[in-house]
Amino acid sequence: MVLSLSDTIPDFPKPGILFRDLTPVFADADAFRAVIDDLAGRFAGRYDAVAGVEARGFLLASALAYASHTPLAIVRKAGKLPGEVLSEDYGLEYGAATLEIRPGQLPQGSRVLILDDVLATGGSSNAAATLIERAGYVVAGIGLVLELDGLGGRQVLSDYDVYSIVAE
Ligand code: AMP
Repeated sequence: MVLSLSDTIPDFPKPGILFRDLTPVFADADAFRAVIDDLAGRFAGRYDAVAGVEARGFLLASALAYASHTPLAIVRKAGKLPGEVLSEDYGLEYGAATLEIRPGQLPQGSRVLILDDVLATGGSSNAAATLIERAGYVVAGIGLVLELDGLGGRQVLSDYDVYSIVAE
């Protein structure tokens, strides 16, 4: 269901990138609920908090945090969070970027489940995981909707429990 609902857009946001757009999944109430239920079931009992990676990870993480009644942490792109932040630079399939988190918002040692929509090179998830650890938490796992095979993301994340609903 998820795969049939995703759109594939060539040369977005840069030439040579085959962009996988999951907005049709979010626009389908049954599909969105199935995605959240799937992720919740896979990691049930293994996390104390959920972290969403900007921007589409926010959609998944907020729904899952609500469904499982757990705290929500947000991992944002550089310059969006006020006050003290931890920063991690990383490489993207299409460029370079920085992710940030505000420390001190969850109890130390919290088991945090990281969520994002698509796994490509693994740079974003790996940076998010590093931030979670630098903030004093434990990475409970990394949950994704779609994993793109052949870009090495799973190898980059070999230290973590990575689950994607669909891999192709
Ligand atoms: P990466 O850090 O390379 O694993 O890329 C993952 C992040 O970039 C996720 O937040 C995705 O939303 C986005 N992304 C990277 N490549 C693609 C792609 N081909 N299609 C859709 N989103 C992508």
